[in-house]
Amino acid sequence: MGDKLKVGIIGATGMVGQRFLCLLENHPWFEVTVLAASKNSAGVTYKEAIANRWKMTTPLPEKYKDMVVKDAFKVEEISGMVDFVFCAISLNKEQTKLLEEDYAKHETPVISNNSANRNVDDVPMLIPEINGVHAQIIESQKKRLGTKRGFIAVKPNCSIQSYVPPISALMEYKPKNILACTYQAISGAGKTFNECPEIIDNVIPFIDGEEEKSEKEPLKIWGQIESGKIINANSPIITTQCIRVPVANGHLAAVYVSFKNKPSKEEIISRWENFKVPEIVLGLPNAPKKFLKYFTENNRPQTNLDRNYENGMGISMGRLREDKIFDYKFVCLSHNTLRGAAGGGVLSAEYLKACGYLNAK
Ligand code: NAP
Repeated sequence: MGDKLKVGIIGATGMVGQRFLCLLENHPWFEVTVLAASKNSAGVTYKEAIANRWKMTTPLPEKYKDMVVKDAFKVEEISGMVDFVFCAISLNKEQTKLLEEDYAKHETPVISNNSANRNVDDVPMLIPEINGVHAQIIESQKKRLGTKRGFIAVKPNCSIQSYVPPISALMEYKPKNILACTYQAISGAGKTFNECPEIIDNVIPFIDGEEEKSEKEPLKIWGQIESGKIINANSPIITTQCIRVPVANGHLAAVYVSFKNKPSKEEIISRWENFKVPEIVLGLPNAPKKFLKYFTENNRPQTNLDRNYENGMGISMGRLREDKIFDYKFVCLSHNTLRGAAGGGVLSAEYLKACGYLNAK
């Protein structure tokens, strides 16, 4: 194992957990030493626990098959076996919040995909290319929790990953109003087509809680640290509609935006194509080489063709044009279980390690 950090996957049997396992199979910095899930999966090997629930298109990696799954609530035991954990579980918010805090208080940092701690003002919600600086809030959080090394960092909801990066590249023009309609894959609900027959030949105009998160979370990403808290930005005004479509992976968004200082179309494309990512992020193992890509073809990006751009870690845009009501409209796409979930989590952990927040116990 060398000097790799030991990591546990809490929720290892789920859709996002399985992505984590694939991404971490040969990771240069992290070695998976614990797989944990609910009591129903605990006590048997991962191969037995997962049975016919493996949802990835690549085979279940050999190295995990015979690991015995632990009960995610055995916090003390798991904390003794890892340097930090990734957490992606389907549990109610209160229980998730308490469980994540319990790990942090056992001096085990938590990189979370869950929404439970996203609204806590000393918990950073990271997209490392955009707001990595928010990691500094961890010091305030540790004081609140009374920990030396334990903390919680979260990644934002998968729905916002397609439109927040391209708008972030345009902040100098002061975006005022944003309307975003997202067309979201079924893997966002942890499902495959077999488990979601109601989506075949259908579109479902409701995803519980998604519009609230999609309108609120970008304001935390664009917020500032003041007096030990992340204070959310108070603009732009964002309104969204989140729709489930018959797609396995990839969330596409149709976005309309108005600015206080309207840029030209050429300026927008130039800001996207030349978006500067901090040096420290560029060197991370899972960082995309080119974060933002603009397609000039009218029929791109397409979910099926373009979701794996930059190994599913890049964001692609297209169809930028002037609008009669807003200043501009465009389409954008991100992979929801890679950039939007496990990939974003792994990149955040790499970033936190590079900044010195994650290290061996
Ligand atoms: P999922 O496929 O339903 O997996 C849920 C995981 O939680 C399983 O490992 C399950 O273990 C575990 N679990 C369920 N009840 C538990 C309990 N009482 N105690 C401990 N573990 C329990 O869900 P998912 O799609 O991977 O999503 C997981 C989390 O990530 C959710 O909070 C979701 O909102 C978030 N997220 C998902 C996506 C996405 O694209 N899918 C994107 C961003 C964020 P068992 O197998 O033992 O039941």
